[in-house]
Amino acid sequence: MRFVPALEPPLVLGAGPAGCAAAIELARAGLTPTLIDRCNTVGDPLCGGFMSWRTLAQLDALGVQTADLGGRRVDHLRLFAHGREVHTPLPQAALGLSRHAFDSRLREVSLQCGARLAIDTIRTFSGGIARGQQRDWHAQALFLATGKHDIRGQSRPRTRSDPALGLRIRLPAHPAREALVGSAIELHLFRGGYAGIVLQEGGSANVCLALRKSALAKAGGDPALLLDRVASDNAHFAARLDSDWRTARIETVGAVPYGWIARTTEPGLFRLGDQAAVIPSLAGEGMSIALASGVMAARHWLAGGAKAAQTYQRAFATRAHAPVQLAKAARTLAETRLGSTAALALARLFPALVLDLAERCRIDTDSHVQPAVTCA
Ligand SMILES: Cc1cc2nc3c(=O)[nH]c(=O)nc-3n(C[C@H](O)[C@H](O)[C@H](O)COP(=O)(O)OP(=O)(O)OC[C@H]3O[C@@H](n4cnc5c(N)ncnc54)[C@H](O)[C@@H]3O)c2cc1C
Repeated sequence: MRFVPALEPPLVLGAGPAGCAAAIELARAGLTPTLIDRCNTVGDPLCGGFMSWRTLAQLDALGVQTADLGGRRVDHLRLFAHGREVHTPLPQAALGLSRHAFDSRLREVSLQCGARLAIDTIRTFSGGIARGQQRDWHAQALFLATGKHDIRGQSRPRTRSDPALGLRIRLPAHPAREALVGSAIELHLFRGGYAGIVLQEGGSANVCLALRKSALAKAGGDPALLLDRVASDNAHFAARLDSDWRTARIETVGAVPYGWIARTTEPGLFRLGDQAAVIPSLAGEGMSIALASGVMAARHWLAGGAKAAQTYQRAFATRAHAPVQLAKAARTLAETRLGSTAALALARLFPALVLDLAERCRIDTDSHVQPAVTCA
């Protein structure tokens, strides 16, 4: 017999990885949570598309299959800086998969498990009421999982001094590029940022850059000129872009608050995913953090209801602290010429160091809070 808590389930705002993980965990405990998302159709959010082994382990635990989605196995890391290159195997196999495929599967599984999806854009919330474009939503507990999109009155702090900018292009399958990238996650380090390249389903390549906003300003605010400049200074990167990038759409996201962690919250408000902690994308662990926070928030709520919000937030902040700080340090090092040159030299001499760093930038998979009761 399924145990169904007598409590009204929390409202889950945002049906990305964090919101879906929470919805699946709540549904597995016999509830019918409502996921609210502003989009009826799943897009392809700006992301590097690298799913770490820790992300994959968490998906397994949630019962979410990805093996049939056509993603590409990723089993080693190739690092480039200032004309030099180093490769090393990853501690465990990862996956290159588009966010469209990934997010679609997560939504599908959430609904199969018993969650409901409502389409509305939430504008504000307070006192247990989320005000949407369509209607007001009431609940004692709110799971805020709107990712990079802040809700009015709940904005994460922005740095004024040269914030991070994300930029992404998708390149079509091409035999020469496939031969160059193969089963690697490539990180091309340059002054002020990096570019990550990974192959995804169908052999297409996801090229994602994270760099300082000032770099875009120096290119007159023109992302194509910025890419051109990065390519002309980095021959290995240019070889991967080839010339077909010139017709590709360039997407950007501004002011990413890398390193931010929510340590406190309001009564009844559980912050999840990018609304809980933003790990620098160089680590490729954001989706893992999103899933971990979703499961952990659901378990805290199942154990203590809306009152558990602050306990959850503090516990998740503690859990995210070490990987986020380490990824921040790695990003700071990688952004400078001296730092990235030293990092490459160290990686060549001591590949075990890279493996160790790659492991330490992962969130631990044990949430230390067991579900109150789970359904079979
Ligand atoms: C440049 C860059 C590269 C990255 N590369 C990687 C990588 O390779 N690997 C990795 O693991 N992580 C990567 N990340 C991090 C990863 O993308 C995020 O950590 C992850 O998407 C967070 O998931 P989330 O569920 O919190 O939010 P999101 O994925 O942003 O989902 C939020 C959901 O909320 C919905 N929503 C937003 N606003 C509202 C609203 N007002 N009302 C209703 N619904 C709303 C959206 O439609 C969306 O469905 C990268 C990040 C950046 C910036």
